[in-house]
Amino acid sequence: MPEQKRDYYEVLGVSRGASDDELKKAYRKLAKQYHPDLNPDDKVAETKFKEINEAYEVLSDKDKRSRYDQFGHAGVDPNFGAGGPGGYGGGFGGFDMGDIDLGDIFGSFFGGGFGGGAQRANPNAPKKGDTLRAAVTITFEEAAFGCEKEIVLTRSETCDTCKGSGCAAGTTAEVCPDCHGTGTIRIQRGGGAFTFATSAPCSRCQGSGKIIHQPCHDCHGSGQVRKQRKITVSIPAGIDNGQAISLRGQGGAGKNGGPAGDLLISVTVKPSDKFRRDGTAVYLEQNVTFAQAALGAKLTIPTIDGDVEYTMPEGTQPGTTFRLRGKGIPSVNGRGRGDQFVTVRVRVPTALSHEQKEALKAYAAAMGEAEAAGETGGKGFFDKRKKKK
Ligand SMILES: [Zn+2]
Ligand SMILES: [Zn+2]
Repeated sequence: MPEQKRDYYEVLGVSRGASDDELKKAYRKLAKQYHPDLNPDDKVAETKFKEINEAYEVLSDKDKRSRYDQFGHAGVDPNFGAGGPGGYGGGFGGFDMGDIDLGDIFGSFFGGGFGGGAQRANPNAPKKGDTLRAAVTITFEEAAFGCEKEIVLTRSETCDTCKGSGCAAGTTAEVCPDCHGTGTIRIQRGGGAFTFATSAPCSRCQGSGKIIHQPCHDCHGSGQVRKQRKITVSIPAGIDNGQAISLRGQGGAGKNGGPAGDLLISVTVKPSDKFRRDGTAVYLEQNVTFAQAALGAKLTIPTIDGDVEYTMPEGTQPGTTFRLRGKGIPSVNGRGRGDQFVTVRVRVPTALSHEQKEALKAYAAAMGEAEAAGETGGKGFFDKRKKKK
């Protein structure tokens, strides 16, 4: 289970902002310390060595590190697929989905997910529920302006009938007499001077520390039931491909009164056939004719808000980029919008009619070009056309 894994930065003992050099240094030092050759037959050292190598393999790779920073172990674990519950369509209302913490969009989603080991000591301590994962795919425009998506997932919830106790109405659980509620029992082996003790899960209560004589009819004593839920997810404007949203408390039910886990929704943004995006900037290529570029023109430019007019000055060169302020993607934290950058592509006409060719030849002659279609170093437009090919 990925949640049980230690944080890679913690494994290497470096901060999240550690440079490549710091990582390398920390890795070398630890690898030396736990190298199997120096620690023969030491299982703990061997496990540590593997853990260190795994952490370094991810953090030393720029791409993997950034995915890890964003999604934790799920971002670099091949077992974590892009799949997950789908089937959204909108229109579902009335379900209280709790709060979306925008601060968590880029953040570490596993806070509270780690550290299960220490809690095993007391089986009745409150325990946070499992982190659940889902995926949604949205369009470029939906990402720009935000949207609501419905996802369907099956999760464990605290049983309503017994409020999680697992006991039938009017009854309570008994503290396990074998382990006195600890869930583990000590087993003594050997004898005399060679007695030693190990601990094992209590077989009478299966490690739960309690015995339920009359289990709840609905959950059969587990205190939890599986439920299919439709959840409407508000996806904030400005979200980018590969980012994730954390819905606090929408994951698996907690145990012993602990809080429910979180639901992590990874967002895939479909590319647009018109626009390209980098952060909050939108890029567009706009085709113009040679005459428009030379004479200037009023252009109709598509933006994510719809078409806008732009007056292109005369003598605009191919490849010129102009900026439409505030026509980019809203910032996901709600602070302003990016710009749209429009790059002018001059289309060279093909399949010219006889008349059009004559007109162009006349133009070339007026420009002082000896042969309109000749190989002489023509001016501007013809020169550029040859270089492009
Ligand atoms: Zn027991
Ligand atoms: Zn129940």
